[in-house]
Amino acid sequence: MKKSLLIACAACVMLGCGCIHRAARPDMPDKSFGYYKGLKIRADLMQASDYNKQYKLPGPMPDLKYITIHNTANVATAQNERDYLNRRKDKAYISFHYAVDEKEAIQIMRHDQHAWHAGDGRGDGNMKSIGVEICRSLCKGEKYDLYLRSEANAVKLAAYLLKVNNLPLDALRMHYDWTRKWCPHRILDDNRWAEFRERVRRVLEGEE
Ligand SMILES: [Zn+2]
Repeated sequence: MKKSLLIACAACVMLGCGCIHRAARPDMPDKSFGYYKGLKIRADLMQASDYNKQYKLPGPMPDLKYITIHNTANVATAQNERDYLNRRKDKAYISFHYAVDEKEAIQIMRHDQHAWHAGDGRGDGNMKSIGVEICRSLCKGEKYDLYLRSEANAVKLAAYLLKVNNLPLDALRMHYDWTRKWCPHRILDDNRWAEFRERVRRVLEGEE
């Protein structure tokens, strides 16, 4: 495992192998990127401005135990989600670690910082879990494919996050699990959470 972290990943993109680029680790520089099973995972961290520190970067997360899956409930890209979160100044206490679309996953916060995404105050959802927003979840009709591809990338991202943080499959949660909010709405509407989880399991076990 350790050795694989140091492999340059051009080959991994081609081969779709499971190696995790060192640059995609939580300690990576702000703009670095790497690949996991062909998914581009790129850091574009939120700016640590005074405003963002007050409303979006609340503090350390020393006891990471879960990965929480959300749907954005709009049609925007991961970059748009990141940029909007970074710049919004509406005094909302809201933040999340990753946004993923059909093209890439963008890391917005470090794994050692907790975020405001689970709606459970100082409960485990906010204090002990990484928040992943699956984008494009209101894309319908001809654009439904954009959502399905975003979700397929989220499967890989979830597997990656479980793996690099040494968490079991049971650590995978929905926003719904914390507060009964209907999120990720698209997965819940389609009654596909068991399927999503099974796909993550298959990626983790190298079957996909
Ligand atoms: Zn949510």
